[in-house]
Amino acid sequence: MEIYPSPDIVRQADDRPRACACDDAEVSACACGEAEASVLACACDEAEASAPADAPASASASARGSAPAPRRAARSAEPPRALITAVEPDSPAYDAGFEPGCYLTSVDGQPLRDIIDWRWLSAEDVIEVGYVDLDGDAGVVELEREEGEDWGFTFEGVVFDAVKLCRNACTFCFMRQLPAHMRPSLSLRDDDFRLSFLSGTFVTLTNLSAEDEARIIEQHISPLRVSLHASDPAARRALIGRHAQHGLDALDRLLAAGIEVHAQIVLVPEANDGDVLRGTLAWAYARPNILNVGIVPLGFTKHQAFFDHSFNDPAAARAVIDIVEPFQRRALAERGEPWVHAADEFYRNAYLADTAEKIPPTSHYGDFSLFEDGIGIIRSYVDEFDAACAGGLARRAADALDAAGLRVRYVVGEAMQPFLDRMVERSPLAGRLVPLTVRNTYFGGNVDVTGLLCACDIVPAIKEAVAENAPGMDLALARIGESASWQQSDVRGDDPMVRTKRVPHEPEAPAALPSEQDCLSDCAPSDRPLREMCGRSTFAHLRDLFVIPRVILNDAGVTLDDATVEDMEKAAGTPISVVSCNPLDYLTEIINLAAAGRAL
Ligand code: SF4
Repeated sequence: MEIYPSPDIVRQADDRPRACACDDAEVSACACGEAEASVLACACDEAEASAPADAPASASASARGSAPAPRRAARSAEPPRALITAVEPDSPAYDAGFEPGCYLTSVDGQPLRDIIDWRWLSAEDVIEVGYVDLDGDAGVVELEREEGEDWGFTFEGVVFDAVKLCRNACTFCFMRQLPAHMRPSLSLRDDDFRLSFLSGTFVTLTNLSAEDEARIIEQHISPLRVSLHASDPAARRALIGRHAQHGLDALDRLLAAGIEVHAQIVLVPEANDGDVLRGTLAWAYARPNILNVGIVPLGFTKHQAFFDHSFNDPAAARAVIDIVEPFQRRALAERGEPWVHAADEFYRNAYLADTAEKIPPTSHYGDFSLFEDGIGIIRSYVDEFDAACAGGLARRAADALDAAGLRVRYVVGEAMQPFLDRMVERSPLAGRLVPLTVRNTYFGGNVDVTGLLCACDIVPAIKEAVAENAPGMDLALARIGESASWQQSDVRGDDPMVRTKRVPHEPEAPAALPSEQDCLSDCAPSDRPLREMCGRSTFAHLRDLFVIPRVILNDAGVTLDDATVEDMEKAAGTPISVVSCNPLDYLTEIINLAAAGRAL
């Protein structure tokens, strides 16, 4: 279950929140205890100038974003301009002499603030574009195209002016609960309606100006993803700060003007649950342009002192489901779909080992459009795992592992453990694929998803597993030629997890060779499967193949604490492979790894 986004999506605040001169922030308490003087952006707009030019736009709300947000410079003092990164040959842009490195500054006299403006303004077949060429000279040129022809421009990023930053001081903000030494490149807290539309990040609308509002309506920038949290003004203000009502009023006006919204509620115990939640859902249901509502529980780390519980207790999780279900029944009857969804974590916390049986059916999740919000991931995972078993893929993976004398240790966060262990035990993979559940001590609190696991927790867990399983296979592998290790296989060589980073850990000695009592000491070197050589039926003698899901790494192949797979291999003293997160994919990859292992 990957409730949280991958490392590329979780953008954290490393430049710690700073005081704003206009004292615009207001919140009674927050996770970090510094909210009164800790807003990054505010009504004085000074924050717009604070976004670094290459800073990534972030997921908003409770660090449950969706797709990685695009990057773009923040140049609040300059007119926006769109950097051209590619020009399609024989296109109108090419014919006009544009080259990569030129800028577009306007269309028919209108500034280009973002890709939405470009699409909006370039809809005609004859346009006049302002530009700055490679020599820095500005000019204007008319372009013409055939009907339906593309203009031929590719731009850098999607926002050409400053990314709009968050002006809130949410008590639950995950980015303010992070270890102080998180890397600086993950710092931007955006709250930009354009990224909400383009990339699916959630916005609060608290920073929306009258001009923004008019533009959203005119250009019909819809649907938006909006953090609702609570409709009760006092509850909302207590949660996100003094601009809460501004955002709620703006939301109401946009809805009335026909803008559609996917709403999110970050549920905080004793703040917006219970009757406040009922009221919020009733408020939202009365507004048909709120297409659906996703409810996610508070996530908290150990790096704060304000929260010590969320909805991890089964009774607390069930209480939320009990509030949600009547709304779902009504929506199903009246609208044909459940409309409101509790995040997977509520079901996992409520039903633990029974989660796979209790999670709502596939039809409940429609097109799984809230997947990135942690809604429907367990159902999707269970469906895929069941399909792998029914279709024989799990059996083939088990046979491949048996033949290679391998056992897979699949690294997962504690969120998966309650139900994944049972699913595996009931499948042909029992004993061959053994989840290696890793506690997240780096973040602590109730952070338990696989996607937020760090090397500092993964490595000790693997080392411990290696030590537990060391007697046995290492001797055998040494005898049959460890130099032909499966880690050099084509499968691994094709792995996109490019290792480019430094090595922060000193390599440690590999696990000790096994004791002499091992049965394999009687086996002659051979290319027969190790288990067959050994003649034993126990899985304890299978060599462990450690795999980590790709979600633990970002696009550069590093974990949240800046370790590469190679770093972890050296520190753990054992090979580690990277596989997909989805059962149908990772079982196929495991078969390939096992096949490579048989070549020993
Ligand atoms: S303070 Fe609130 S709106 Fe701003 S980034 Fe944090 S959770 Fe999102």
